[in-house]
Amino acid sequence: MTDHGCIKCGSCLRACPVLSDPNGTGFPGPRTVGVDVPRFPERGRIGERALMCTMCHACEWACPSGLEITGAMLQLRAEVSPGLQLPGHLRMRENVRSFGRAVRTEFTGWREEGNRTLYFPGCIGLGPLAAMTTTASSLLTALGIEHDISSRAVCCGSPLLKVGALAEAKVLQHRNMETLAAYERVITSCPGCTYQLREVYGVRAEHMVEVLKAKDLRSKVRGKWALQLPCHLKRGLSPWSAEALVHVLTGAGVDIVRLPVEDRCCGGGGGMLAGFPATARSMAHNKADTYRAAGVEGVITACPFCALNLGREGLRVLDVSEAVHAEKMR
Ligand code: SF4
Ligand code: SF4
Repeated sequence: MTDHGCIKCGSCLRACPVLSDPNGTGFPGPRTVGVDVPRFPERGRIGERALMCTMCHACEWACPSGLEITGAMLQLRAEVSPGLQLPGHLRMRENVRSFGRAVRTEFTGWREEGNRTLYFPGCIGLGPLAAMTTTASSLLTALGIEHDISSRAVCCGSPLLKVGALAEAKVLQHRNMETLAAYERVITSCPGCTYQLREVYGVRAEHMVEVLKAKDLRSKVRGKWALQLPCHLKRGLSPWSAEALVHVLTGAGVDIVRLPVEDRCCGGGGGMLAGFPATARSMAHNKADTYRAAGVEGVITACPFCALNLGREGLRVLDVSEAVHAEKMR
């Protein structure tokens, strides 16, 4: 990307959730990292500050010139990341090399029954949020969607791509394509996985909210709940996917409170959680405070990274599959 079209209006800076966070002060901001630095031969010198972005796309959405800021950042990351040694990113890469996933696998309920649909929960869903995966799998079964959960499916590669490890992401893609070849339909719970499978692999993956929006569902929860609209669902996949989450929940009878912050990044994506844990925690902490001030029971989302990051703040956070049940059990 060039700077052609950048009118230096600062809209991207005002939209950036990292820049406005007290723990995000080291980040030079979207205009610098996404527009200015990539144009200069000395771009390699920017160092780890290039990675201090959640890839939330808010800057891009705010840009009146329509510049592809996050795309330029991804390219920059691919160039500079080989020389970077952030401990969390190194650990993630090591995990992938050792056992194929970004985090330790805790899920044990594999279903390898030769079904034509694959449920692909993603690394967080197979790790710390294994209980969410079990619930989501039961919901699919109750809806008549018989599926496998394959122990051979590995990380989709999105977390590696976000930190600039292109070659390793490609290896994961090849491994997954062999597994996916046995299936006609792929359903995910992580919008990062959905995007990766759809846009990078070219597989017609569906996010859970896209599956649920046509179903007859009832609420499992009582009281008022707020939304955490995941960046990678709303601005990564499409705003209509985010609206599908709203549609599913209101259709099921969940009492939703709409808050202006609901689509603001929680700090969980783009490698922030692993690379800059203090900033990720600070962003989640500030969001959790806003939710608490609204007096809601908790927050419903459709992204394991959001659920993990906000859940660490003591907030009740449910995945959409945990907030609803099938109206008619088969
Ligand atoms: S993608 Fe999000 S976190 Fe990254 S620079 Fe843009 S607004 Fe800031
Ligand atoms: S919002 Fe777009 S046009 Fe405005 S400063 Fe940022 S990159 Fe430039």
